[in-house]
Amino acid sequence: PQALFALVERWVPPARVPQRLQGKGYSVDRLALAIQTGELVNHYQPKVLVSSGEMVGVETLVRWRHPLDGMVYPDQFIGMAEAHGLIDALTQAVVTQALKDSAAWALQGLKCKVAINVSMDNLGTLDFPEQVTSAAAAAGVAPQSIVLEVTESQLMKDLRAPLEILTRLRLRRFKLSIDDFGTGHSSLAQLRDVPFDELKIDQSFVHGAHHNETLRAIFYASLRLAKELGMEVVAEGVEDADDWRFLQQTGCDLAQGYFIARPMAAEAVLAWRDGWQRRWVQEGLGAPEG
Ligand code: C2E
Ligand code: MG
Ligand code: MG
Ligand code: MG
Repeated sequence: PQALFALVERWVPPARVPQRLQGKGYSVDRLALAIQTGELVNHYQPKVLVSSGEMVGVETLVRWRHPLDGMVYPDQFIGMAEAHGLIDALTQAVVTQALKDSAAWALQGLKCKVAINVSMDNLGTLDFPEQVTSAAAAAGVAPQSIVLEVTESQLMKDLRAPLEILTRLRLRRFKLSIDDFGTGHSSLAQLRDVPFDELKIDQSFVHGAHHNETLRAIFYASLRLAKELGMEVVAEGVEDADDWRFLQQTGCDLAQGYFIARPMAAEAVLAWRDGWQRRWVQEGLGAPEG
């Protein structure tokens, strides 16, 4: 069964995903069992500096290795976990695994930040900051190297309780990131009130921006806003060489996307980094001189 799961993900055309994988067919009990028995597995996608190509972080993306259906993607089960009270257990499992992998990479000489996607419902749990803090301490990973990503659309529903939790996480030195920016209608006041360290421009404004004036306008406005507020900026969805070349002209700090790397198993990350360093030179991915 191990062979069913490649170390590095390949693109599956959506039309070929079987009907039963399209959000139907999994019961809450089955998902709960999957969380308990370790069928959920973390994949990781590198975040690299646009200037030097250095891999400075990875984003954790959870997958469900279903024994019969193969790899099931988060869009098929995160919503269900949120709706049925399983998201705290799910996040706990994801965090534990991510910190364990991060500690193992550090032993192999790879020091980078690890980002984890957090659901709004996690931020309604008062002892969430306590839980992540003890998980970090147990794994020996510093809070400063842990980034918690919250999507803009979830964030803007109701900010009062989450704001308290986010502030407490920040006081404990965790890094906070606002994900899928541009798709969630945040107001400027909300950005003022939450102390985010990083802003991720949604992939829909990144891929293809080089030949689309509207996308470019939104991209630059988001970049400028984030920079003025002192945040680091990540462009998501860098899918091809044109996207990459465009980014190099923008002053955007970090990039993430299929052009750089697909999400991969923890065991594949070190080898990927070596390959990327070679590719950087061979394909001349650095910015042109002068
Ligand atoms: P996200 O946090 O915005 O993550 C980026 C998504 O875009 C991932 O999809 C990733 O595989 C995909 N992606 C990366 N590069 C490219 C690219 O160049 N082009 C395109 N088209 N897509 C790209 P994935 O893994 O299916 O995850 C979907 C969403 O599910 C994530 O969006 C995140 O919101 C959520 N998610 C993933 N893991 C977790 C988790 O552990 N907990 C929670 N609460 N949510 C999670
Ligand atoms: Mg994310
Ligand atoms: Mg995103
Ligand atoms: Mg997303």
